[in-house]
Amino acid sequence: MKLFKILIFGLFLVLITGCSDTTKKSPKNIIIFIGDGMGYNHVDVASFYQFGETGKQVYEAFPVKMGMSTYMVGGEVYNPDSVWVNFNYVKKKPTDSAASGTAIATGTKTYKSGVSVDSAKMKLLTVLDRAELIGKSTGVVSTVPFSNATPASFVAHNESRYNYREIAKEMIMESKVDVIMGGGHPLFNPDGSHIKSHEKRVVGEKESYDLELSNQMGNSNNEEVYRYVGGKVVWNLLVEGNAGSDADNDGIDDPWDFIQDRDVFQKYGSGETPKRVLGVFKSGQSTQVERVNTLDAGKPFSAPLNIEVPTLEEMTNASINILDDNPNGFVMMVEGGAIDWVAHSNLLHRTIEEIIDFNKAVEAACNWVEKNSSWNETLIIVTADHETGYLIGPGSNKVDAQTTEEKWKPIVGNSKGKLPSVEWFSKDHTNSLVPFYAKGAGSSNFRDVIKGNDNVRGSYIDNTDIGNVVSDFLLSDEN
Ligand SMILES: [Zn+2]
Repeated sequence: MKLFKILIFGLFLVLITGCSDTTKKSPKNIIIFIGDGMGYNHVDVASFYQFGETGKQVYEAFPVKMGMSTYMVGGEVYNPDSVWVNFNYVKKKPTDSAASGTAIATGTKTYKSGVSVDSAKMKLLTVLDRAELIGKSTGVVSTVPFSNATPASFVAHNESRYNYREIAKEMIMESKVDVIMGGGHPLFNPDGSHIKSHEKRVVGEKESYDLELSNQMGNSNNEEVYRYVGGKVVWNLLVEGNAGSDADNDGIDDPWDFIQDRDVFQKYGSGETPKRVLGVFKSGQSTQVERVNTLDAGKPFSAPLNIEVPTLEEMTNASINILDDNPNGFVMMVEGGAIDWVAHSNLLHRTIEEIIDFNKAVEAACNWVEKNSSWNETLIIVTADHETGYLIGPGSNKVDAQTTEEKWKPIVGNSKGKLPSVEWFSKDHTNSLVPFYAKGAGSSNFRDVIKGNDNVRGSYIDNTDIGNVVSDFLLSDEN
């Protein structure tokens, strides 16, 4: 009798899951794209340049489109009633990438610069930690040093994002992650030129800003060129093929297969690959931001690209190809990390370059889903950790005695291939809502966690909802 009941119940489960909406289903594979600093208008400036109009990006056709709040512990809770009344409201105590990356990766908000630790500095489980616990493969990919805040938040746990050396060491020596790709190469300058043995690395604009903040927070070791890769000892172990812990729990260490040449990143986009790959492309910082720019005419791509480093699309293809061998599926995060850097500098043409690089990576992942997987088993999320630069239309924030409605003016498109007309109102992050797009298995679950309604952006969720919804998928798979 008991067995009979179990059989009937099993049949019932098969029936309900078999008939139910697959957009509510727990996904086998999850790919989270984060455009660091990518607000709504960052997407639009790239669209105007690429297509002469907005709304054309592949992710803008995703079925789930909402806003997302990004505030941190100690920051200003997003209040839709204040945001569109007071022009400067969104400039108050915005989050940084560590606090928002932690919220996205773990579902818990934390303080500025905390890396997957909570407000009491206790370690939090990330969605990659949870995925590893149930036998999925995992990875992080970025256009900036892999130990930077966003990828770090998915893998490492540290009280400060500026402890690069400890963070990189944890990622390389202790984590169970299967793919890590990013910059921070200790033997190359930020412009991609090789550091000769008697030289010190050229400290670029971003690095000096970083050092200043790091020093303010009292961190040591921050002058060392090897800090982004865990220190010289760890780096040497990595290059020799002797770094890495037991990633698959069989009691034997699984050393990283180390790669650095662009053609290897490209080669791993198809065919056979090693099972664990750590790629550090040949730049001390990001892929393209600090490349030699003598020919930069203020137009996207007018300064020739550094062809020695991979594109984000190439790294995404390689990562997926490495991770998709696991029959249990995978969870990965792909970051367009330098969108934020160029937006801090209010460089419109470079912002467009970085967004286009990001967009192509999303397109590549969507193509992979359609060719090699399906939207019934894979979930793709495209979002940002915060907005950078308060990028809006020209002539905004003009005091109008009669009405407040003209405060925020739209970006003005100037046909395909031309820079749109814009104005930047900050060199920092803002608390503005960022876009959230989702498609595929489980995407509808985000409609169940809406936090509020914004007068301009409509329904919005919170950055913690990504960590919580994805964690629920992974916990339900465990049972
Ligand atoms: Zn930033």
